This record gives sequence, structure tokens and C-alpha cells, in this order.
Amino acid sequence: MAPEIEKVKVLIIGSGPAGYTAAIYAARAGMNPVLYTGGQPGGQLTITTDVENYPGYPDGIMGPEMMEDFRKQAERFGTKVRYGLVTKVNFNVQPHQVIVDDQVEIHADTVIISTGASAKWLGLESEERLNGKGVSACAVCDGFFFKGQDVAIVGAGDTACEEASYLANICNKVYMIVRRDEMRASQIMQKRVMNNPKIEILWNTETEEILGDDEVIGARVVNNVTKEVKELAVSGFFVAIGHEPNTGIFKDFINMDDSGYIKTIPGSTKTNIEGVFACGDAQDHIYRQAVTAAGTGCMAALDAERYLASKE
Ligand SMILES: Cc1cc2nc3c(=O)[nH]c(=O)nc-3n(C[C@H](O)[C@H](O)[C@H](O)COP(=O)(O)OP(=O)(O)OC[C@H]3O[C@@H](n4cnc5c(N)ncnc54)[C@H](O)[C@@H]3O)c2cc1C
Repeated sequence: MAPEIEKVKVLIIGSGPAGYTAAIYAARAGMNPVLYTGGQPGGQLTITTDVENYPGYPDGIMGPEMMEDFRKQAERFGTKVRYGLVTKVNFNVQPHQVIVDDQVEIHADTVIISTGASAKWLGLESEERLNGKGVSACAVCDGFFFKGQDVAIVGAGDTACEEASYLANICNKVYMIVRRDEMRASQIMQKRVMNNPKIEILWNTETEEILGDDEVIGARVVNNVTKEVKELAVSGFFVAIGHEPNTGIFKDFINMDDSGYIKTIPGSTKTNIEGVFACGDAQDHIYRQAVTAAGTGCMAALDAERYLASKE
């Protein structure tokens, strides 16, 4: 027997700040949204500890707890939150076809993509073990915890330079670990880090291990030309080697930039496909914060509502 097809007005893919905020707005607007959480219910903030920069929490809050609050608020207004991974879509048809876990077929009048992005990591055992205990992929999020301290950052692109400069404003000293004898970053960004007296660039250098049992106390690095090994006494270790947007399943339909970030029409969350909207980190390689993701989640729900109204 062919599987039953479910028809929904608004399908939200992803359960980070963007997806849940879209759900809150869509549910309160009477659009009965269905939200699929994906493999990381609650999104990226579930792998961090303190979140101190989200407005409304004057004492800060733990990331997983905050995302529980988001989920409860979305459910309170009737969002159907379901565990499941969207595995295939067909946006060439109306309503849009979405397959979950290779089994369930949904036909959606509108789809809100809020699948976020994943930070790239070096792949060291110590990096995974100390993640959230001094290891971070977000200087803007976690730099403040290392105020006045010495930190290291790995990376050689524009983002790494920007984050190194950001850290230099807060921290005592920043070691910038660069694998080659040159950087990928633009000249202007390179100049900014090279001229900053608080930033020491370690060229031709790779990280062997991040040191510490329960928190970062240093990093052992090796010069890949001279083979000289040294230990940096740092309490924070930042990885800025890029992010990967979780947008692969949409690539045959949705316009994206070279890195896979979804292109939206400026001032909106509209994609090139009618009735498909994108919000949060999946379409934002610049700000990448919970509050900006939530903001665009709100926009996506309002855009979806207006689109549906225009079709009535
Ligand atoms: C370690 C760390 C610390 C951070 N700290 C802060 C901080 O202190 N303050 C701050 O503002 N920001 C912080 N950030 C950044 C913040 O987490 C992100 O900007 C924000 O989570 C982006 O929200 P999002 O909803 O776009 O996506 P995400 O949070 O990435 O959520 C994406 C969601 O999509 C789901 N998904 C993916 N693919 C599929 C699929 N195929 N089907 C269904 N679902 C799918 C995932 O399961 C997940 O639920 C931090 C990030 C990290 C990694």
C-alpha cells in the first residue's frame, strides 16, 4: 500500500533558533506549522554551555535549556514538533514535496528552511573532548569568557582574521595559528591582524594537541617546516576554519553561493522558489548568531503568511 501523504500549510525544517522562532510566529498566525528537528534537536546551541548574549536572559542561560524554552514556546501555540530528518525534496512541484527519513511524504504549501550550518573542526580528539570547555568555533559567542587571558585561534581566512581582531579587543594576547606561509584572507584583513600588537601570527604551524583534562590549559603546536614543537599557554582555543551550511539536499532547486549558503532576496527570506523561504545560519555566513537567526525566523514566518494570503 502506498504511504499516506500528509498535506501541511507550513513545513519548517530545522529546530534551532531560526526554526523555532518561525514556528512560534506561524503557529500564532494560525498556520498549523509542522517542524522537523533533524539530527540535532535544538540546533547548535545544544553543544554549548553558557549563552550570555541572548536578550531576555540577564543572568545568561545554558544553551540546551534555552532551546528547550524555544521548543516549549513553539509547542504552546500548537506547532507539531517531530523528530525526523528531511532526506529529499522536490521544489519543482506545487505543493512542494518533502520526504522525511526516506519514508514519510509531505506536501507543503510553504517550506521554511532553517537547517543551520556546522562549524568545521580540526579533527583532534582533544578538540572534541574540550569542546565547550575552552574550545570554541565562535569568537563572538565565547570570546568574552576569556577576557584578559591568552588565547589561540586557528585559521587563515577573512573570518579567522576578523575573529582574531575581535579577540584581541578582549583578550591579553592572541596566537594566530596559520598552516602555511601565507593567508587566504584579503590583503586588508591580513594587514589588520599583522598590525595588531596583541596578535602573534605563527606561520607554517599546525596544532598537535589541545592540552588540559577538564579545561583548556594550552596547545601543543608544531612548525611544519622546522619541525620545532612548542606549547602555548592559552586558556581559550578558537577554531575558525570555516562553516558548512546544511543545505546539500536543496542544491538541485535553490540558488546558493559557492559555499552552499542559500541566497535570499535582500530584505526578505524569499528564495528563488515560490513558497520556499530560508532563515538562520543556512543563509547567513556573516552574523551567525542566535538572535539574528531568530530574527530571520520571524521574517520567514511572516513572508510565508503573506505568500499564502496572496494565493487565497
Ligand atoms: C559552540 C557554539 C557556541 C555558540 N554560542 C553562541 C552564543 O553564545 N550566542 C549566540 O548568539 N550564538 C551562538 N552560537 C551560534 C548559534 O548557535 C547559531 O548562530 C544559531 O544556532 C543558528 O541557528 P539556526 O536556527 O540557523 O541553526 P542551527 O542552530 O544550526 O540549527 C539547525 C537545525 O537544523 C536541523 N537540520 C539540519 N539538517 C536537517 C534536515 N535535513 N532535516 C531536518 N532538520 C535538519 C538540525 O538538526 C538543527 O536542529 C554558537 C554556536 C556554536 C557552535
